[in-house]
Amino acid sequence: MSHPRSEQLYARARAVIPGGVNSPVRAFRAVGGTPLFVARAQGAHLIDADDRRYLDFVGSWGPLILGHAHPAVVEAITAASRAGTTFGAPCAGEVELAERVVAAYPGIEQVRFVSSGTEAVMSAIRVTRAATGRDLIVKFSGCYHGHADHLLVAAGSGLATFGRPSSAGVPEPFTACTRVLPLDDEAALEQLLEAEGAHVAAVIIEPVPANHGLLPQRQAFLARLRALTRAHGALLIFDEVISGFRLAPGGAAERLGITPDLATFGKVIGGGLPVGAFAGTRAVMACLAPDGDTYQAGTLSGNPVAMASGIATLEVLAREDGWRRLESLGTHVETVLRPVLARSRFPVHLVRVGSLFWLSLHGPGAPRTAAPLDQAALERYGRLFHALLAQGIYFPPSAYEACFLSLAHRESDIETLGRALEHALQSAA
Ligand SMILES: *Cc1c(COP(=O)(O)O)cnc(C)c1O
Repeated sequence: MSHPRSEQLYARARAVIPGGVNSPVRAFRAVGGTPLFVARAQGAHLIDADDRRYLDFVGSWGPLILGHAHPAVVEAITAASRAGTTFGAPCAGEVELAERVVAAYPGIEQVRFVSSGTEAVMSAIRVTRAATGRDLIVKFSGCYHGHADHLLVAAGSGLATFGRPSSAGVPEPFTACTRVLPLDDEAALEQLLEAEGAHVAAVIIEPVPANHGLLPQRQAFLARLRALTRAHGALLIFDEVISGFRLAPGGAAERLGITPDLATFGKVIGGGLPVGAFAGTRAVMACLAPDGDTYQAGTLSGNPVAMASGIATLEVLAREDGWRRLESLGTHVETVLRPVLARSRFPVHLVRVGSLFWLSLHGPGAPRTAAPLDQAALERYGRLFHALLAQGIYFPPSAYEACFLSLAHRESDIETLGRALEHALQSAA
């Protein structure tokens, strides 16, 4: 299928933007072809520069839990921007969104806003080091926590696709205080904490890992993680940048019944505008400047327009019984897709948690650790992706990325996906 306007834009983009994109996975490198340039979007649909319409299962990678250009969010953004786009001084929106986060999320008392998930995680890590007086950070292979130097070790997301364990441009000493463990492995965790626990400031995990496909963890593993971090005096950070306000008002913590010491947020919390946040108990957050001596700041942090977008998003979710409706939409995805996948001539397994789902090409069963896909599976996903695109379905352009549902998706959209997938699986086989 030809996309002349997208191709023209991509050629111009490549001249002035590295790789033609401002975030690598957008370039379609993992699936081949020209990335679609989006002209506009509404509800569950994207319209590209060539005026073709697609049913969108990416949702800007997570923020758009209400769908594109939801009227309540657009109205809130418009009203806020008329009153000024940034003040560099406190505003009421920050207080209101902070009160909502603190009320919704278990165990936290204070929150500070930043402008991205990366910043939220960077700052949360600094706070844990300051609060404990320790240096080491433990992360899990396949979990992505943004692009800060010391966390770009065995990360998921775009990095998994590129098959790089890490990134160029990160000096080895910068990751010397980072330890990496496999998911789903209590023994490895016990061993590490036994050896180095007294030096560990924090263990960070995506409680529902969603950046290397979707790798739901056993409750027992996460409960053990909670108990062991406490026993060794290390803080536990739940990176809820994807799961926060998506899986429940209290994120994965509420869903799993496990309370971390700190949580990081992004994506949904800004409703499509750049917002991140990190939160913890008053005792831990007290080390931040101006009360404490841990420096952290941002020119656009707590931006009034972004706060309005986040507040409007959370308001609609609460008012419209959003989390229950998303769960039932997720159930419908299982009902519709399972029989379709059962007829596939190659192994493909549906993994689903709430409004997140993933077609795993690993074979039968849901993986719990970050295993790489073989070349044949990666190529198969490329064919599947393009066969869906040709039928007007926009899926993530990487086999390692999960799909996102929004309140704008209808049950009939899922049935449309089921029919398109039936054909796509045949052409991908
Ligand atoms: C997206 C993501 C980040 C990084 O957020 P950005 O806003 O892209 O910087 C961090 N952690 C997780 C779990 C994410 O999914």
